[in-house]
Amino acid sequence: MRKSGGRLAKMRYKQWFRMSIMRMLGVLLILIFSAWTREQPSASSLIMQYCENFKQIQIDIRDCNISPDSAARAFQVNMLQLGKLFGDDSCSRRTGQDFVFPVKGYSPRESIGGRGKGYRPEGFDLFDMQVRGSHPAHDIFIRDRDKDQLDDATGEPVDVLAFTTGMVLASEKNWQFDSDRRGGNWIWIYDPCLKGIFYYAHNKTVVVEPGQWVEAGEKIAEMGRTGFSAHKSRSPTHLHFMYLKINRDGLPEPDDTYDWLMEAITKD
Ligand SMILES: [Zn+2]
Repeated sequence: MRKSGGRLAKMRYKQWFRMSIMRMLGVLLILIFSAWTREQPSASSLIMQYCENFKQIQIDIRDCNISPDSAARAFQVNMLQLGKLFGDDSCSRRTGQDFVFPVKGYSPRESIGGRGKGYRPEGFDLFDMQVRGSHPAHDIFIRDRDKDQLDDATGEPVDVLAFTTGMVLASEKNWQFDSDRRGGNWIWIYDPCLKGIFYYAHNKTVVVEPGQWVEAGEKIAEMGRTGFSAHKSRSPTHLHFMYLKINRDGLPEPDDTYDWLMEAITKD
């Protein structure tokens, strides 16, 4: 009897031991899981972070707080991470008919500066404020002879429309008229399908926010004369429209959108 009683106690002890181990493992698993989930930020908070980084890099370049090399590296890392977040989704490459002409009420033929000859990509460097003279963009002009930022024919502001579907990366809304900053009130939009970024500058007002998804043709701004040169009386009222392809290394390369603009759907 004493023998079997001892065996029983041993078995109970083993059982208790096993249960304790299981319980400890359970607690450990919960701890690991909660730590892991706490360290995984949501996709939307990552997007906001990348948008903030993008704007900060632009500001640092503008204020010469960063060397061109460091700016390029920061830009590269940010764009590669952003690209990874969107992944290689199944969107087909866009063609002219997927784009909307970015100036409402105007056709490309009548409004693109120099019939596309205004595009000069040579020497462009997004990261170096000292480099001037290139213009990897198209200026799109409206009828505004008195330069009051209103269409002469309608007396109304002219809407700037998203050329392509994508996500607003950054915007500037508070350009001051005594400022020497060039782009004025600008918007950058990322198209994860094309893997490129669009820049819309000199707007009077901007109506979109960073992180916001916009469809091609959606109103993003009203055209204006903001920006150091655009504000001067000699400058006709226009939208400065630039597209930069993001290459495999996450770096920007100017790309001429003239053909796309000519084929784009126009909105009245
Ligand atoms: Zn321009």
